Amino acid sequence: MKNTDLMNNIDLHVHTNRSDGELDPQEVVDLAIKKGLKAVAITDHDVVDGVEGAISYASGKGIEVIPGIEIGCDELGIGFKEVHVVGLFIDYKNKDLLEFAENIKKQRTNQKRKMIDKIRELGYDITFEEVALSVKGAFGRPHICRTLMKKYPDKFSSIQEVFDKLLGIGKPAYVDREERGGMKEAISIIKRAGGISFLAHPGVYKKEDSLELIKAFRKAGGEGIETYYPYHIICPKLGIDAEENSRLIGFYKELVKSEGFLESGGSDFHGGDRDTLGEIPIDWDVLERLRSCECKKEGATVWFTGLACSGKTTISKRIREILCERGLNIVVLDSDDLRSTVSKDFGYTKEERDRHMRLVADMCYLLTLQGALNLAAVISPTDSIREDARKKIGSFIEVYVRCPLEVCKARDVKGHYLEYEQGKLKDFVGMNIPYEEPVNPDVVVDTDTNDVDTCANMIIAKMEERGFI
Ligand SMILES: [Zn+2]
Ligand SMILES: [Zn+2]
Repeated sequence: MKNTDLMNNIDLHVHTNRSDGELDPQEVVDLAIKKGLKAVAITDHDVVDGVEGAISYASGKGIEVIPGIEIGCDELGIGFKEVHVVGLFIDYKNKDLLEFAENIKKQRTNQKRKMIDKIRELGYDITFEEVALSVKGAFGRPHICRTLMKKYPDKFSSIQEVFDKLLGIGKPAYVDREERGGMKEAISIIKRAGGISFLAHPGVYKKEDSLELIKAFRKAGGEGIETYYPYHIICPKLGIDAEENSRLIGFYKELVKSEGFLESGGSDFHGGDRDTLGEIPIDWDVLERLRSCECKKEGATVWFTGLACSGKTTISKRIREILCERGLNIVVLDSDDLRSTVSKDFGYTKEERDRHMRLVADMCYLLTLQGALNLAAVISPTDSIREDARKKIGSFIEVYVRCPLEVCKARDVKGHYLEYEQGKLKDFVGMNIPYEEPVNPDVVVDTDTNDVDTCANMIIAKMEERGFI
């Protein structure tokens, strides 16, 4: 059964003025609310500058903003230039992604500078600085178009007209950008940022070509294609009407089903003469399916080992704080918390301590399976315990929180070292029970010489490297 109320209220391909759109992120959110949309994805060209503003502005307004990007690629090997890959549900603060975007921004600006030089040579009086004033994020050709339209209204009445006369591929003021990476690079960046990648608007190509491209996209690791797209509005050159557009959407929907792709889509809204926000009806299910696939993402566990008072809990809680700010949900499993709850019946004999640690490993295993990111702070004094945990959990980073025993004793936050000295505690790791130093930990942090943030950031860097975040 189809619920028509749940149609036409999502749009997963939207641009702001942080790339070549006309509205700023907040205006896009306002317009989306006005149009009754319940979810929009901000997918600016090669930048994520508009995402954070849109998300925070939308908060509490009954609309969801999904972080995204649209990356331009070249696949010259198979004869495709300017292929677009949309990434959704990305971590827009991911370091690799930001670095990638920064590089592209530089290349884009260079290319536009050369285009403006050519336009000047052709006798139009515009300057790079003048156009740059209107650029809020990525420098796009539409920025140049709008400046020309303002200065020469009788010569240029639309962006399309400037493209046709000057800036389109092969036109007198067009300058090629430096060759870009291929789809594989774009997909890999999106993956590293935790997102899902889609081949954008495959219907702009001839059917046979699009099928070839889709094949290559899958081979490069791509996960979905955009089925919904208003080709009849955005691509007048295709010469199709709304009815033919629906057929084209149907064709790609069939393909998605038969080939087992994910699907997405949207209006490619830019504002101005691409005033299409929410104009393409999309099943709400499309978003629900993407979300459930997001949920299926594998989780991971970071296992902190070290003496009592070495700083395991402090560092793991600091990491949770930092990652929470990035919108990530982190579970901290602190041995002391567990000792006062799930393990409260266990004492401190060797057998009971082992059982407690196995229980923590089991919990991490179950949570990891369900996609959680866990930080477990457990003394775990032997290699065999840590190795068992690693084998059981799979996605695992072992962090050795190293600190000299004397320093730990001096810290004695919970008074356990004192209790041991006073004979109130019989067995204590580091005292009568040896602590086996990890043989091959993934990260070692020295808490006697480094501050909490330094240690936390080292571990976050490892989590990023391993693709956990
Ligand atoms: Zn595109
Ligand atoms: Zn687009």
